[in-house]
Amino acid sequence: MTIENILEKLPRIEAGWVWLAGAGPGDPGLLSLLTLRGLQQADVVVYDALVNSEILDLAGEDAQLEFAGKRGGRPSLKQADISDRLVELARTGKKVLRLKGGDPFVFGRGGEEARHLVEANIPFRVIPGITAGIGGLAYAGIPVTDRHTNSAVTFLTGHGEDGGLSKDIDWDALAKSSPVIVVYMALSRVDLMCQQFLKSGRRPDEAVAIISKATTTEQRVLETTLAQAAEDVKKANLAAPAMIVLGENVKLRAGLDWYGAMTGKLLNADLSFIAGQGK
Ligand code: SAH
Repeated sequence: MTIENILEKLPRIEAGWVWLAGAGPGDPGLLSLLTLRGLQQADVVVYDALVNSEILDLAGEDAQLEFAGKRGGRPSLKQADISDRLVELARTGKKVLRLKGGDPFVFGRGGEEARHLVEANIPFRVIPGITAGIGGLAYAGIPVTDRHTNSAVTFLTGHGEDGGLSKDIDWDALAKSSPVIVVYMALSRVDLMCQQFLKSGRRPDEAVAIISKATTTEQRVLETTLAQAAEDVKKANLAAPAMIVLGENVKLRAGLDWYGAMTGKLLNADLSFIAGQGK
């Protein structure tokens, strides 16, 4: 069977429908076939700042591309305006692809947009994407879970109210219970975040990685420790978007950085220095 046959068998976007799709973290190879199908068929693609141009190039020739992001120096749209725009397009009978970075339901406000569509009686489909907190880590050579380092993981956002950290989180409980913590939208709050984890009892020498522009050709990974992270990030001048990962699993990167190995980095096959190995 050819790829065209497979794509042909997938659902079609019907007129007046919205597909709320994830584009993955950056590498176009990480798109799902359903998202590709949506790109090929949509009349209008309403996309986020995190969706890169190589992915938008996959849209059909006649597709209208509409930016609805909140970054990049262009005027920012309010969330309500984006949701209203989706409803408006669907009501005029367009086939609409709402394309978001990563997964639409992971810190992406996809749930809010979907609720808005439900209220307006617009039919929709949700297409998950590979989220940066999993796929981005994989491209950095960091398994999000590993039997030897962590059997649980927490995903959280670094953005709270008033430029600070989220007040909904019980930081002490989190620090105590979650061996690995993956933080989205954290670059501007690395300092606050690390101070909070130290105050909540995490070790200063705990391994931390900051992954910038994961899965793209500009991917950069900074390895540091909880105590050093804020200073190192400032020095390294890393670009957004970036994730922070805190935990013993970060050390696995010494042996598993397959992406770095492609450009000559030597991998360490003996990871016995990692706590818990040999169990
Ligand atoms: N829905 C997206 C997340 C949106 S929130 C997803 O599932 O991945 C935006 C945050 O996602 C950014 O601030 C950053 O922390 C993270 N992010 C998204 N793409 C990224 C990438 N390519 N590299 C590193 N972080 C990324």
